[in-house]
Amino acid sequence: MKVDWLIVGAGFTGCTLAERIATQLDQKVLLIDRRNHTGGNAYDHYDKNGILVHKYGPHIFHTNSKKVWDYLSAFTEWRPYHHHVLGVIEGKRVPVPFNLNSLEMLFPRRMAERLECALLEAYGFGVKVPILKMRENSNTELRNLADYIYKNVFYNYTVKQWDLKPDELDPSVTGRVPVYISRDDRYFQDTWQAMPRYGYSALFERMLNHRNIRVLLNTDVRELGGLVQFNRMIYTGPVDDYFDYMHGHLPYRSLRFDFVTADQERVQDAGTVNYPNDYDFTRITEQKFLTGQRSPVSTLVYEYPQPYMPGENEAYYPIPREENREQYNLYLQEAEKLNGTVLLAGRLADYKYYNMDQAVARALKLFEDSVARGESA
Ligand SMILES: Cc1cc2nc3c(=O)[nH]c(=O)nc-3n(C[C@H](O)[C@H](O)[C@H](O)COP(=O)(O)OP(=O)(O)OC[C@H]3O[C@@H](n4cnc5c(N)ncnc54)[C@H](O)[C@@H]3O)c2cc1C
Repeated sequence: MKVDWLIVGAGFTGCTLAERIATQLDQKVLLIDRRNHTGGNAYDHYDKNGILVHKYGPHIFHTNSKKVWDYLSAFTEWRPYHHHVLGVIEGKRVPVPFNLNSLEMLFPRRMAERLECALLEAYGFGVKVPILKMRENSNTELRNLADYIYKNVFYNYTVKQWDLKPDELDPSVTGRVPVYISRDDRYFQDTWQAMPRYGYSALFERMLNHRNIRVLLNTDVRELGGLVQFNRMIYTGPVDDYFDYMHGHLPYRSLRFDFVTADQERVQDAGTVNYPNDYDFTRITEQKFLTGQRSPVSTLVYEYPQPYMPGENEAYYPIPREENREQYNLYLQEAEKLNGTVLLAGRLADYKYYNMDQAVARALKLFEDSVARGESA
């Protein structure tokens, strides 16, 4: 077989590039994936109870990028969806990120009012204050509040999620955790928040439905041998794997997902409930909240963080630590030596956590800056 482009990996990154090359450049693409489906980690399917589930963990679409929103809208209708998360703190279910409503639910009324006034005076309404910044406030009560939130909402969740204490991770991780001085209980505040009306797999099917695109599943790039001739290649798999681990294995955190179907229409009060302080799992998501599906039964997914064991489970989250970034930089230097004959992009190739919209934005930019111009990345 002879094609213009070989694309390795059929997640958001690979599918976006395949679609752009096929439709905008009228060139032939072979898109391969070692899994038995397209969609990468955003893949969804109907379980044996007829509930649409996300095999690799709950995926909620949100973006501030009009460009990404418009691009994906060509392949799906949307169902408006604003995600809500509750955290179980001292036995109560309160909105996360922590906000003024959470404050009122956890503290005695008078105290909550006092703290609320102090927060409004110090920062103003509608502001997201990083928890570490609040810990430096000159007001003792606000410092104590910040400590309370750090301890009850953030610390144990982080240890469970990463098996590392917050100070062993990049300061950017801790720095991002906000206290939201607002009554907006939504988890995201992005301009566009919605789910593909017929699911992610249907969206991918439409992206790839083009005469210039051929898809080959259950195929690792290493198995292709000389069977396929191509002019250029885009690789969205793990960068350390591409270079035969010459600089060692890049560390990842994995997850185990346990899917449980309950014989009732609704189980939770919100799409996701976080358990920062109890149990081995971090959170439970009820899929029907996300998809809007109607059924007398409901499937929940429990997330258990796990050490990543190559070959045994999936590499999900790059571990955000300085030493890991330095190790990745060694691979980046190797990638630069390829002089654009192979383009590397995506969450595994860039060793970077991307939300779905960021993965699409990265792919669109790579297409515009390099692929369409016939240049290197
Ligand atoms: C638990 C979890 C929850 C998430 N929730 C959200 C969310 O709510 N909202 C959001 O916006 N984002 C979410 N994300 C992020 C989202 O999954 C990523 O943005 C997206 O998957 C990135 O797409 P990608 O194409 O770069 O990578 P992937 O989706 O990982 O696709 C890479 C593909 O390459 C294939 N591949 C790798 N190596 C080879 C090889 N050697 N040969 C052939 N094929 C290969 C893999 O099988 C895979 O299918 C979540 C991620 C995780 C882990």
